[in-house]
Amino acid sequence: MSRMNVGTITRRVHAGAAMLFLLVCATGPVQADDRAIFVTSPGQPLNVGDAMLAATAYHDSGAYDRDVALVARQAGRWIAERAPSARRPALVLDVDDTSLSNWEVIVRDDFGRPVGGPCDLALDAPCGWAAWDQLGRDPAILPTLQVFQQARALGITVFFITGRPENQREATERNLAAVGYAGYEKLYAVPAGARFSSVTDFKAPIRAEIEQAGFTIIANMGDQPSDLLGGHAERMFLLPNPFYRVP
Ligand SMILES: [Mg+2]
Repeated sequence: MSRMNVGTITRRVHAGAAMLFLLVCATGPVQADDRAIFVTSPGQPLNVGDAMLAATAYHDSGAYDRDVALVARQAGRWIAERAPSARRPALVLDVDDTSLSNWEVIVRDDFGRPVGGPCDLALDAPCGWAAWDQLGRDPAILPTLQVFQQARALGITVFFITGRPENQREATERNLAAVGYAGYEKLYAVPAGARFSSVTDFKAPIRAEIEQAGFTIIANMGDQPSDLLGGHAERMFLLPNPFYRVP
């Protein structure tokens, strides 16, 4: 039996891991030296733990807020320019991480997206997103709220189209109202039991329906490409969201 204790082993493991990390960073696609064998290939994704650290730094540094504000300013400029000449101008907004921020639950869940399960804020524990949404405690994403308020002042009709299910309508509308989204035309939510492989398959036909009702959708804002794909908007504004992906 070796006389090396656990602390010594732990230190050596950490030192070995650090050496490997430095080798990977320093040498790129190098597979071996005389002490370590590993592979880095173009198809090898970023380490998920490192990605979470990078996403947290992006948020906490203020860069996320700046990028959101940058996109929202462009949206504001466009709707101000276009609304006066458009026939029944309309603005379409996504809800999660476009109009309302889920940062609190993103951190609580360590970037996971469990839908089911409870949400007890008194515990230092993850929350199911469905239970979280029912709390209706998301703050507004302020640059989007400003675009919303500008749109209303310009006489633009605003529609929310969310991938949240219909059984979250009450909580979602309560949340939107509590943080200042007042005077929108309608919120569309996913009907009970409906399933879509992409939210585009739900959202694009609703935009077509809005157009068929006589509106001109001059702008569509979302945080996921799937919010924007499928046409039926003159301009699309994609807010940054490196925290999760909605297909
Ligand atoms: Mg969203």
